[in-house]
Amino acid sequence: MPVERTLSIIKPDAVAKNVVGQIYTRFEQAGLKVIAARMMQLSAAQAEGFYAVHRERPFFRDLVNFMISGPVMIQVLEGPDAVAKNRALMGSTDPKKAEPGTIRADFADSIDANAVHGSDGADTAAEEIRFFFSGLDLCPRA
Ligand code: GDP
Repeated sequence: MPVERTLSIIKPDAVAKNVVGQIYTRFEQAGLKVIAARMMQLSAAQAEGFYAVHRERPFFRDLVNFMISGPVMIQVLEGPDAVAKNRALMGSTDPKKAEPGTIRADFADSIDANAVHGSDGADTAAEEIRFFFSGLDLCPRA
């Protein structure tokens, strides 16, 4: 399996629940390494830019307002098949439909407050990583 990188965000609801460490443990136990991380409070412009692909969707304003409601923890994960592996760890977008044992099933409350973001493909991952990190921030390890 190719070693890939993906962008993960622990959303304001999960940061507020103080489960950043529990979510990191899931990444680590699945063989994903955190190679860059930053906690920040997004501005509206930053959240709108990050989710620009959704700007015509009816839930866009709710999504942006939620993402700026508190600090988020943003990380680059690296490992074999990282994009798909992180999506599998996350579970379905709607936590009510998320498979038992996934991050969203265990920590999320609603489709808005759904605990985590994860890139949905290799190209999106590269774009999303560039949105938040420079090459100098990445610390790949053997
Ligand atoms: P993801 O890749 O599983 O995060 O899902 P998407 O990329 O499709 O959507 C981005 C985010 O927008 C999701 O994580 C949800 O927080 C939110 N979202 C997606 N679909 C809906 C919806 O139908 N209603 C609402 N309120 N929010 C949604």
